[in-house]
Amino acid sequence: MHHISIIKQHEGHLLGKHKWSGSKLICDLQVEPLVDIDYESHDYNLHFNFGLHNHSEEAKTITVIMLQTNKPVPETIWQADTPYEGFQKSAITIETILEGYKFDITIDSHSETYLSNTMWSSITAINQRFHKLEKHNSLISLKYGQSANHQDLLAYKLFDKRDLCRPLICISSGSHPAEGDTIATAAIAEWITTTGRSHLKKFDVLIVPILNPDGFITGTNGCNTNGINFFWDFQHRNLEYCPEAYYFWELLKAYPPNIYIDFHCYSTQGKRKTFGPYLKPLLFYSGYLTRNAAQNLANSLQTIPGSKHQTMFSPSSMPHKITQEFNTITFAKYHLHQAMGKQGMSDTALLVMQRIIDAIDPSQLQNQIFHPHGPLKKPIRDKFKQKCFMYRYYLPKTIKKLFRS
Ligand SMILES: [Zn+2]
Repeated sequence: MHHISIIKQHEGHLLGKHKWSGSKLICDLQVEPLVDIDYESHDYNLHFNFGLHNHSEEAKTITVIMLQTNKPVPETIWQADTPYEGFQKSAITIETILEGYKFDITIDSHSETYLSNTMWSSITAINQRFHKLEKHNSLISLKYGQSANHQDLLAYKLFDKRDLCRPLICISSGSHPAEGDTIATAAIAEWITTTGRSHLKKFDVLIVPILNPDGFITGTNGCNTNGINFFWDFQHRNLEYCPEAYYFWELLKAYPPNIYIDFHCYSTQGKRKTFGPYLKPLLFYSGYLTRNAAQNLANSLQTIPGSKHQTMFSPSSMPHKITQEFNTITFAKYHLHQAMGKQGMSDTALLVMQRIIDAIDPSQLQNQIFHPHGPLKKPIRDKFKQKCFMYRYYLPKTIKKLFRS
């Protein structure tokens, strides 16, 4: 349309091909490679984030048509005046159509607006929030590497020197940029440095708010800039194409965590999805005390009203590799849900942290971490049991695949 232009040069711009037809803007979603791994396929191509500028003397209304098939129609359009602030829930009505969905948007004269179908968080705003916490509280920032596009990879420590008598809880978010899950780590960082500070006598805490900074800048659904969705395909040895995973692994080697929580968030999936943790089968943990602690923590998390856990087994994924290497108890992912709203997401993240802290018995975790990072030698019988589980799990899938091809 003559008087309206699409703003593309901003942090987080995420849109596929598009064309104008009168006052209609017809768009495709951005396509990133699907994750095809461990006999499963994950499609993260659900989101958009773009700006519109009205150059004319009068307000203009246009219709945005998003083309998609077999994907959830979002319930909310999120809107912002600048791409650097948090997107707010708008009152825009979304209509389902055969080709996907559509909505109308009015832009005032000589002004711009930014639209997304997910609660987009800007990396500039997230970094500012953490820098402020660093300045006023005792968060210590730690640059643990650089992303593929040379962004700093930043972690925040709540301890000076590791006290090995205290369990280390590592919390992360921001591996899938479109999910808005950094709300969780920011809420926990604010709480643990103020009213929750007394817990730091019992635990050490390490927070990584943004695992995939490039994705927040170039605008991706779930991948890094080289098209690797490193939650599922954790290429921790691939320094060239996946430095985000490589350096995170190095960070974990320097600070092997007893507990690891990685926050994610459902966005456009609506009522089809329920918030809650991914758990792994207990036989992937070694040692009676660790298995006992993993069960207690899982039970404690399941007391959060309305949540639902899922069992996940995916050998190429980040949480699987972390437990194999360190014997870390993982809740990765812990899925929040955007339908909770920002406050609900923050409150739930704090509840998760509190339920974990309530259920930890530090004496159970003294001998947890595997050699050479800690004291425990991985028993051969555990390796054997895990191999048996893997073969039994994959045999039917392999046979199915053979018959299909
Ligand atoms: Zn995710």
